[in-house]
Amino acid sequence: EFRYGEASEVVVPTPNDRVYFGEHHPIVVIAGPCSVENEAMIVETAKRVKAAGAKFLRGGAYKPRTSPYAFQGYGESALDLLAAAREATGLGIITELMDAADLPAVARVADIIQIGARNMQNFALLKKVGAQDKPVLLKRGMSATIDEWLMAAEYLLAAGNPNVILCERGIRTFDSKYARNTLDLSVIPVLRSLTHLPIAIDPSHGTGKSEYVAPMALAAIAAGTDALMIEVHPNPAKALSDGPQSLTPEKFDRLVQEMSVLGKVV
Ligand code: PEP
Ligand code: MN
Repeated sequence: EFRYGEASEVVVPTPNDRVYFGEHHPIVVIAGPCSVENEAMIVETAKRVKAAGAKFLRGGAYKPRTSPYAFQGYGESALDLLAAAREATGLGIITELMDAADLPAVARVADIIQIGARNMQNFALLKKVGAQDKPVLLKRGMSATIDEWLMAAEYLLAAGNPNVILCERGIRTFDSKYARNTLDLSVIPVLRSLTHLPIAIDPSHGTGKSEYVAPMALAAIAAGTDALMIEVHPNPAKALSDGPQSLTPEKFDRLVQEMSVLGKVV
């Protein structure tokens, strides 16, 4: 039983603008590295993606890595670097929260709190994030049905937070040989028919390969997405996580220009 879903837009105040996510608004572009690595790279990336047209800088401080031996993110010190990038550019910040214990620290710097695919059904976490007032970007679990995803969103709404953006990031299917995940763009018209919540598409995790990001970003716009989240790194070959799917700032700039031909980018 879905009880909520009447809000047709999510309004996010950032230092530069009030940014509107929703069907009746221009497309919002969120960009930045998978992980925050150091001050120079995050501030440089923020400036480059802002110049290209992004309204939000993304960057992970707490990383949900498959291996416990892989880079886990720089945690609180990365949050300070995101704050520095926000200060330097006026961009809104979006970063992932994995542990409710980190909510106060994350909410201090984030303009939107990301709940990652792996925590989509972490109901204790959803209840806590639903009970505070920063907007939430809720990624689809890698094996979640649309109904399960909407019910996860419902946890946030039922706890009192109406500002939820749904983000498709690719799902697990029988074929993962050529792309990391199967990016399910059919969710755009499907969600439109089921909910009023704004829709974001993440073609970076959706494909896992930088060459495939631009065509899927453009396809998402053609299908009517409200927002795009794209990984951008100043030197993808040296990235501490998700380098193979990250665009250089130059490629990102070119992509935003192509996107603007198809749809109005904020
Ligand atoms: C991310 O955005 O870097 C991330 C870890 O995403 P997901 O939860 O979709 O895997
Ligand atoms: Mn990533």
